[in-house]
Amino acid sequence: MYCTQCGRPASRYKIVTGGEEREVVLCPACYQALYGRPNARRCPSCGMTFEDYKRTGLLGCAKCYRYFRRELLPAVKDIQGGTAHTGKTPGKDAGENYELLLERARLRSRLEEAVRRGDDGEAQRLGDQIKGLSETIRGGRA
Ligand SMILES: [Zn+2]
Ligand SMILES: [Zn+2]
Repeated sequence: MYCTQCGRPASRYKIVTGGEEREVVLCPACYQALYGRPNARRCPSCGMTFEDYKRTGLLGCAKCYRYFRRELLPAVKDIQGGTAHTGKTPGKDAGENYELLLERARLRSRLEEAVRRGDDGEAQRLGDQIKGLSETIRGGRA
């Protein structure tokens, strides 16, 4: 069974459209892209989903960082789990800021790339995101 959209190995999914149930044959990626979004978590501030982020690499607003932080930085959970075992638990805010700082570092390297490429639009967008993120980090510490 192959995906009717892209031809990769697929599964059957039941979907409901207009009150009628029907079956579609799609790979998980196409299923997510076509039908997964209505159930996806959305940033309460700008309405962006994590799928949007994965596609564009850009977050909609500064609140997205907090809302999607688990998805953004799955490795952080392991780090926090590790500290829990040793009994050395950093402050809750420290953990949260750590995630935000990682994301900001990632954005900064992308900004440098954009500047090198001479992509002003992208540099502007990333700059705005970094600014928003910095404000979030400062807000978290206040
Ligand atoms: Zn597919
Ligand atoms: Zn947002």
